[in-house]
Amino acid sequence: MAIVFCIANQKGGVGKTTTTVNLAAGLARLDRKVLLVDLDPQGNATMGSGIQKSELDASVYEVLLGLSDIKDIVQKASTGHYEVLPANRELSGAEVEMVDIDRREKRLKEALDSVRDQYDFILIDCPPALSLLTLNAFSSADGVIIPMQCEYYALEGLSDLVNTIKHVHANLNRNLKIIGLLRVMFDKRATLSQHVSDQLERHFGDKVFKTVIPRNVRLAEAPSYGLPGIDFDPSSRGAQAYLNFSKEMLEWLKGRY
Ligand code: ADP
Ligand code: MG
Repeated sequence: MAIVFCIANQKGGVGKTTTTVNLAAGLARLDRKVLLVDLDPQGNATMGSGIQKSELDASVYEVLLGLSDIKDIVQKASTGHYEVLPANRELSGAEVEMVDIDRREKRLKEALDSVRDQYDFILIDCPPALSLLTLNAFSSADGVIIPMQCEYYALEGLSDLVNTIKHVHANLNRNLKIIGLLRVMFDKRATLSQHVSDQLERHFGDKVFKTVIPRNVRLAEAPSYGLPGIDFDPSSRGAQAYLNFSKEMLEWLKGRY
């Protein structure tokens, strides 16, 4: 049975998609079966997995609205190492169209339940908002991974995210918890990065992953080749860090699930 994680932070550009795609590729390298769910209308995780978002016959949108079976929509990433439930801008209409649908926060969960036994991990890349789509991700997940940039405003907004997770835990999904905060785009030469990083460790203790993802240009270049950084340049510092994070994830899971 797959464990389901969502990668969330309502801020844009904080490394959610980079983390989702590279964790998928990293866990696949460690011989785990992974389904990546792109839940962002921008479709960056779809493109970053080498799937053309403009050429999709159907996407996660049809799955949420009950128009397609998830099994017919899932496809392999271009490397063939993991599978993807793709998204494109069609998905931006889902928020509005789901308003009249029954159990609208549970649509994704119901779809994922039907394929959960086929994977070890399901990773959901969330949009940059605490929206109905993100609620669907939280309702489906066992845990949330929060990527954070160690900068001055990093902690701003974190309490809104934590409160939303508490609300979902109380009302929609008793399994949901914060797995951890992942420091990304880290610049070890910047005093501020180090300062914020120390502050995170003080506040959140063992909820902060040990692995730190450095700022690394190879990670930023990889999406334009439709590849996760791990597959684009496996020896780069960024790829190595995400591979270490994948190992830390497996270590963390031991004895827990
Ligand atoms: P989000 O999904 O939260 O909007 P992304 O993962 O798309 O964030 O990252 C935002 C931008 O930063 C992208 O251009 C991405 O390639 C780049 N990026 C992400 N992580 C790193 C990193 N560790 N080093 C360098 N660039 C990064
Ligand atoms: Mg993104």
